Amino acid sequence: MKVLYRLKDAGYQAFLVGGSVRDLLLGIVPKDFDVATNALPEEIRRVFRNCRLIGRRFRLAHVHFGDEIIEVATFRASAAPEEVDDEDHREVEDVRGDARALDRSGRILRDNLYGSIDADVWRRDFTANALYYNIADFSVWDYVGGADDVKARVLKLIGDPEVRYREDPVRMLRAARFAAKLGFTLHPGTRAPLKELAPLLGGVPAARLFDECLKLFLGGHAVAGFERLKDFDLLAHFLPSLAEELATAPDGEAARLLALGLAGTDARVRADRSVTPTFLFAVLLYGPIMRLAAEREESGIPSVQALAEATDSVVAAQVRRIAIPKRFTLPLREMVALQPRFERRDGRKALALLAHPRFRAAYDLFVLRAEAGGVPQELADWWTELQTLPAESRADMVASLAPTEPGPDAAPGAPRRRRRRRGGRRPAGGDGGAPA
Ligand code: ATP
Ligand code: MG
Repeated sequence: MKVLYRLKDAGYQAFLVGGSVRDLLLGIVPKDFDVATNALPEEIRRVFRNCRLIGRRFRLAHVHFGDEIIEVATFRASAAPEEVDDEDHREVEDVRGDARALDRSGRILRDNLYGSIDADVWRRDFTANALYYNIADFSVWDYVGGADDVKARVLKLIGDPEVRYREDPVRMLRAARFAAKLGFTLHPGTRAPLKELAPLLGGVPAARLFDECLKLFLGGHAVAGFERLKDFDLLAHFLPSLAEELATAPDGEAARLLALGLAGTDARVRADRSVTPTFLFAVLLYGPIMRLAAEREESGIPSVQALAEATDSVVAAQVRRIAIPKRFTLPLREMVALQPRFERRDGRKALALLAHPRFRAAYDLFVLRAEAGGVPQELADWWTELQTLPAESRADMVASLAPTEPGPDAAPGAPRRRRRRRGGRRPAGGDGGAPA
């Protein structure tokens, strides 16, 4: 409201636009608020002190209120794809942006970058996303029948769907995301070209697909989003190894783990608990990793090495399509590599695993595997219980198991002796941490 009124009072048009108007009409609390105005970026900056201009070709203003950012965009005339303005991705986009700018020189002129509201509306994707709420008189401006489509719960691309998808193939993923989030159906014309055009996703910068992937799966509608990806024939061009695994074994362990993992992610988001890209990608790639690891093991590679190589290979292939940053793939690798250690409850090693910095994430994955029927539930319960014990009792709990489950590298009895000595030296308060 402050942003809208400040612009209006400075003599500009100011509209709330996009998802926020759509969501308000549907009674959903908007995730963020986008503002559109006829003020030029430099003019916007003059109106707000707390304002930063971002983006190269299309300059956008970010107005900051503490942690909140309101995105204020000047009406645009061009229908070119959205620019990624995320901090992480600006570099990649800039490199590509240069090439693109050259390709298009002559076609996109600086002079007609900005336009009026009746040019701006046509570059938007769906009619439901093209409603403008005017702060001057509280009216909603609707050039494309968006209000009716919201009422009918239909997603309909503005203009010729095929042209609009070719212009920016990410709109296909946005269709899946909005259909999932809003429970909308796709207008037949918007639905029809998807199967044929899905391969165009291969040409989208991988950094943008990463952003879109998080929006799709970490917005509280992962289960529905995944269903739409499948329905719309997009999965194979977005998560190819997963699509292949599900085609090979539609009711297998990987499919169950995925369903449980996505449902768990949605539950966490709805409960306002944190969700991490690391865990998400572990859930998405676990099936393909396990299949490849099993194949390698069959060809004679030792299991630990087979698992590590399979993880590297599946992740590397996926990263070419979706640019998952290393800060997520490295912990993912560790989470997967730790899995076999949960199946061995031999004393000292169990305590070391418990103290591993990646224990919690790896344990969460192990619990999911148990739920999916891949490892005995009783084993997951044991690890759950172990964590609830005070540190000094943990050694006793692992000790009580040792005789039936000696580690593969220790003679029976040997681990017990070691534990007794440790226990003797650290009777209480020890956290059962990793041995030196
Ligand atoms: P939400 O914020 O709930 O995810 P949104 O509709 O606000 O959904 P944003 O990505 O925030 O989506 O974009 C804001 C608006 O910008 C959209 O409503 C749409 O009008 C326009 N827009 C965004 N991305 C595109 C695109 N790829 N092609 C055309 N228009 C787009
Ligand atoms: Mg938005």
